[in-house]
Amino acid sequence: MTSPVHTRADLDSLPNYVPGRTVPGAIKLASNEVPGGPLPSVTEAIAQAATQVNRYPDMGAWALVDRVARELDVPAEQVAVGCGSVSLCQQLVQALCEPGDEVLFAWRSFEAYPILTQIAGATPVTVPLDATHTHDLDAMLDAITPRTRLVFVCNPNNPTGTAVRRAQLTRFLDKVPPHVLVALDEAYREFVTDEEVPDGLEFLRERENVAVLRTFSKAYGLAGLRAGYAAAPAKVTEALRKVYVPFSLNALAQAAAIASLDAKDELMARCRDIVAERTRVRDALLASGYVVPETQANFVWLPLAERASEFAEHALDSKVVVRPFAGDGVRVTIGTPEENDVFLDAAASFQRRA
Ligand code: PMP
Repeated sequence: MTSPVHTRADLDSLPNYVPGRTVPGAIKLASNEVPGGPLPSVTEAIAQAATQVNRYPDMGAWALVDRVARELDVPAEQVAVGCGSVSLCQQLVQALCEPGDEVLFAWRSFEAYPILTQIAGATPVTVPLDATHTHDLDAMLDAITPRTRLVFVCNPNNPTGTAVRRAQLTRFLDKVPPHVLVALDEAYREFVTDEEVPDGLEFLRERENVAVLRTFSKAYGLAGLRAGYAAAPAKVTEALRKVYVPFSLNALAQAAAIASLDAKDELMARCRDIVAERTRVRDALLASGYVVPETQANFVWLPLAERASEFAEHALDSKVVVRPFAGDGVRVTIGTPEENDVFLDAAASFQRRA
């Protein structure tokens, strides 16, 4: 029986967000997670917080806001937190856009941008990546209209791993009209090794229309708990708090995020191991004959076009789950050395049968 309830007609044409698959018994290299589990100090903080879950969490998550502000060396009023940086992306669109306003971003980029934009009744405007799978910032400037309210620049870009450099980004920001907010989505910032790829906070300090989005899901290893933050002008963080779903950043996530910042050195050492594996994996793929754009994130991108899905099926036959984008490419997360070896064997055998 079909329910008579009226739901928004425009949702029918809206795709669902497709997460990386989890296949029992297979190695998951599909969601850009880090392979290591939480540190003992983090599990301890979670267990401690768990003893009080009969109480609501701190609505403003002020302890975490203060801790992030201290870490970033920005005033606490310029920090907002949410349940994952995807939530902050959604909050930004909701806080800035009225129906018909435009949100601009490169494509292909983070899958959630077009979905969140449409949910808010705003219009997504996309600009293709250039031939090197990198943001084409000049073309993005040309795509700004009087209706543009928000520009997402995903740096490094998911799923290609490519990054824009300081000089390019500075030139871009100099030309973006000051009433348009540029959200630098730095979900993978901690894996960046190229010194020419700027830390978005450099821009935040000198501009009133830049926001930086980061997450505890990737380098900090808390994907299952959902915590992220934005650093932005106070007017923007105030607006983000207005559209925050009350209490959505739960008490365990708040405690774990603080404990993870306290354990930053150890966690960053793990990131360096992943970066070393990233180099090894990319070099091996290049040696096998693949095209692999230079990556600054914890994943590699294989622009396999119409063979993307076939590649993913082949990898699955070897018990490795990767993330295909049909007709475009495959994104593969860097795992442990052993996991990466299994993936590289699968990639090499795919090449041999090609
Ligand atoms: N931004 C980008 C570019 C991402 O790739 C992701 C995760 N896939 C997110 C934001 C959201 O991460 P989370 O909600 O887990 O913090």
